[in-house]
Amino acid sequence: MTFGRIAIILASTASVAVLAQAAKEPDWKALEEETMRHYQAVLRLDTRNPPGNEVVVAEYVKGVLDKEGIPSVIVGSDPKRPNLIARLKGNGKKRPILVMGHSDTVTTDEAKWTHPPLSATREGGYVYGRGTIDDKDNLTGGLMTMLLLKRLNVPLDRDVIFVSESGEEGSSGIGIGYLVKEHFPEIDAEYCLAEGGGVTRIGGQVKYATVQTLEKQPRGIELVAHGISGHGSIPLKSNAIVHLAGAVAKIGAWSPDVRFNETTGTYFRKLAAISPPEVAKYYRDVLSTDPKVQKAADDWLLENEPRHSSMLRTSVSPNIFTGGYRSNVIPSEAKATLDVRALPDENAAKFLEQVKRVINDPAVDVRYTGASERPAGPDARLDSEAYKALEAAGTRVYNTTTLPMMGTGATDMAQLRAKGVQCFGIGPAVDFEDAPKGFGAHSDQERLLEIEIHRFVRFNWEVISNLARAK
Ligand SMILES: [Zn+2]
Repeated sequence: MTFGRIAIILASTASVAVLAQAAKEPDWKALEEETMRHYQAVLRLDTRNPPGNEVVVAEYVKGVLDKEGIPSVIVGSDPKRPNLIARLKGNGKKRPILVMGHSDTVTTDEAKWTHPPLSATREGGYVYGRGTIDDKDNLTGGLMTMLLLKRLNVPLDRDVIFVSESGEEGSSGIGIGYLVKEHFPEIDAEYCLAEGGGVTRIGGQVKYATVQTLEKQPRGIELVAHGISGHGSIPLKSNAIVHLAGAVAKIGAWSPDVRFNETTGTYFRKLAAISPPEVAKYYRDVLSTDPKVQKAADDWLLENEPRHSSMLRTSVSPNIFTGGYRSNVIPSEAKATLDVRALPDENAAKFLEQVKRVINDPAVDVRYTGASERPAGPDARLDSEAYKALEAAGTRVYNTTTLPMMGTGATDMAQLRAKGVQCFGIGPAVDFEDAPKGFGAHSDQERLLEIEIHRFVRFNWEVISNLARAK
């Protein structure tokens, strides 16, 4: 009898625990309407930058958080362009995790849109609108995870911080730059999740997930050619435009050395393992220590997969060329600007010397345009608890393998990595075929599959609850 009673008590405690556990898994089907409502709401708020006016998103998000009793503050240096910071408290056993989504978008050319860019129109399984994949998807994912953690009253080993930052698209001084400078203790975290990764679908099938663990550092280099000015009827050997054209042509033909880091080495190895043999060959060959084998693969990538070519090296692209003002005047100066995307460990001074050697023309001055707005920082660790949680969520939610990836572009994670936060870029699944059709980030149009915003919310939840839940 006594034994029986103990057994019953044990059994009932156990089943209560099981029930509690089960109750903490969100009802995903039931959440879809709410996810879509918030996603469409923020898409319909006009935060095209310039001018940004991100205050409308900050206020909307604050309203949603207020209703749930999640504390948040709106902070900024420009009242029209503030940021939002929210925090759910944990027991402090571990350092916080931060999840971010930027509230501004790039501008639009409305004539190019089938559905107006701020309409968030749902059609054929897609949601159309500026910001659908850059970055109101991450904003919605982070917001929904905050709501779920609070509603389900999940006990936390660490604080979960949610930030919606303004100005990511070219004015990060008022966004992440401002936050890091003026409010760093409020956003300081062990880990951060933001935009920059994603899941690749090809032919409607998920092929792999990427997590951005590192990014290149944007720098500008200016070439200024000097010569003697004169009458156009008397050609001069010192013609500045001729010297500049020669310098730019040399840069165009130059390919800086290939160099791998932990992220890119792992990326190409894993990509080779999951790709069809005819392309896998190039991903493997580019890692070869035989310079001839590597060169052939490098050439193929530049021709066929230029993004991958850029991942191999510090890249240089001449993007502005100016000089002259009258057809009968030889100008004394001509100028070109090179977009340099440096590997994170690049030595800036040495690289500039290399550029000067390649140009090898005393008539052409070579200098950086200024300091980068994005500091270089270390890569996020692939052996961290966070990376493992991301891999696990990739398997659970997308049933796919995860590749660490170095972004060729810049994100707001740069400023945080420089402060020692381990940052990981994530994103929803998009069709590989969609960007070439003109529906990518910053494209003439932008869209996301409805099912993929829901799946992405679940991915966010899996990762954050896994890393923050009390254990
Ligand atoms: Zn973005």
